[in-house]
Amino acid sequence: MTKYIFFTGGVVSSVGKGVTAAALGRLLKARGLTVAVQKLDPYINVDPGTMSPYQHGEVFVTEDGAETDLDLGHYERFIDINASQLSNVTTGRVYAEVIARERRGDYLGGTIQVIPHITNEIKRCIYNVAETSKADIVLVEVGGTVGDIESLPFMEALRQVRSDVGRKNTLYVHVTFLPYIGASQELKTKPTQHSVRELRSIGIHPDVIIARADHDIPKEHIKKIALFCDVKKRAVIPAKTSSTLYEVPLSLAETGLDSYVVERLKLKNTNEPDLSEWRKMIVGMKRKKPKIKIGIVGKYVELHDAYMSVKEAAYHAGNVNNRVVDIEWIHSGNLEKGKGWDKFKGLDGIIVPGGFGERGIEGKIRAALWARENKVPYLGLCLGMQVMCIEFARSVLGHEDANSTEFDSQSEHPIISLMADQHDLANLGGTMRLGAYPCNLKEGTKAAAAYQEESISERHRHRWEFNNSYRESMEEAGLNFSGLSPDGRLVEIAEVKDHPFMVGSQFHPEFKSRPNRPHPLFDGFMKAAVEHQASRKKSQNGAVKPAEAQEATNN
Ligand code: GLN
Repeated sequence: MTKYIFFTGGVVSSVGKGVTAAALGRLLKARGLTVAVQKLDPYINVDPGTMSPYQHGEVFVTEDGAETDLDLGHYERFIDINASQLSNVTTGRVYAEVIARERRGDYLGGTIQVIPHITNEIKRCIYNVAETSKADIVLVEVGGTVGDIESLPFMEALRQVRSDVGRKNTLYVHVTFLPYIGASQELKTKPTQHSVRELRSIGIHPDVIIARADHDIPKEHIKKIALFCDVKKRAVIPAKTSSTLYEVPLSLAETGLDSYVVERLKLKNTNEPDLSEWRKMIVGMKRKKPKIKIGIVGKYVELHDAYMSVKEAAYHAGNVNNRVVDIEWIHSGNLEKGKGWDKFKGLDGIIVPGGFGERGIEGKIRAALWARENKVPYLGLCLGMQVMCIEFARSVLGHEDANSTEFDSQSEHPIISLMADQHDLANLGGTMRLGAYPCNLKEGTKAAAAYQEESISERHRHRWEFNNSYRESMEEAGLNFSGLSPDGRLVEIAEVKDHPFMVGSQFHPEFKSRPNRPHPLFDGFMKAAVEHQASRKKSQNGAVKPAEAQEATNN
């Protein structure tokens, strides 16, 4: 029988529910249990694929091509499992399904209502994860904060699950926040009490309260929360913000949360959690190391969440290469205006991540030019690979108007063009090339050296691709197509031959990086960056052309 652990949030949004749930998932897995995950998002979009990163942060892509919430990325990285299409359910998806059924005539004669039709569909989605995964535990997180109007049907469904499968198979975890009042120098529990009251008015009595705070949480506060919220004292878990995200499983283990969960859910066949490898990793992460400055050039850089997996993958790779990655966030739009070039000073690597639309594109192209000319390691992710090819075509082949038809449909040199099956598309949602596809690597290339494998599988999310009419001329001019689809028709990885490391992938390697197993391409990139740092420090004048000089060249 699968057991369900439900996570709700209180007091404030962004309280760290996803990380907390993922960390508990790690602990349960370390106890020998199998874990599956699901995020329920109360917004009305069918998936986050059509949302702006400003609204939503990164769109995380699963192996089977679901465009999902970034919390799924935390689950994959912490628990080291693969999420799937079933792992993210939104109000939009639930309603779309119920309305489609109604149109088909499945409910003939009936009035379709939130209870039971919508709540039944939500429960069907929850039970589906359990049935498909056959996991011991399904972790289900509800997005938003208790009290939101749009999350009510989800909460009601959660409440009903306990009636369906029983108390010993369900656990409600409420994650709250204790604000700190500077004037009196104390943490406050009242908002937690209020949010629990709100939760109880919906019919859910939490079994566990996780109290997040940025300060030490005094024992009296725990007692107070237990008393006022009617939760066992050992089930009120203090969770002070830790210095690294990946430390959360260890600090939760110290509170005894996982033992409580095992006891309360009467879980059998579990051992004491084996956290030795994780602990070793944290020691490694916290060890003092030299810094390395990596620039991330994008148009959503104000919102770091938009590049969540890229940022994490860079940290993972830095860690195993004995470097603390100091990310320089560079706004591509500013570069176009000749601003922000001072940020290139002291960079030992540049990442141009994925993106859509024309804004900031010329800035990214200039960043690629700078990296190529100065021989600074460059990693292009999806759009970053397209940008690298456009820049190469412009500068090396002299195709001045080279572009992607996404940004210039009239370009005489459409280096990047629409994939054949994308020409007559009417719907934009969920219709890109999505999910994992195989790719063969060419021997003797940087990509093959990084992967140490001949064939790989990586996750995609794009509509455009490299235009094959330019393959020959670009190859002759010094671009190496080091990764191709097995039928040889799609360029999946391109790299500049005469450069220490300038590699772009049409896929998104960042989604598969794990804290204890960095992604080969990020690792290869970081190794090149470390080498660049060493040679930069050695050369007296600095091997890199100062950014100001570059700025002058560019304008
Ligand atoms: N906009 C580009 C495309 O659709 C790149 C997408 C991306 O970077 N994920 O092909």
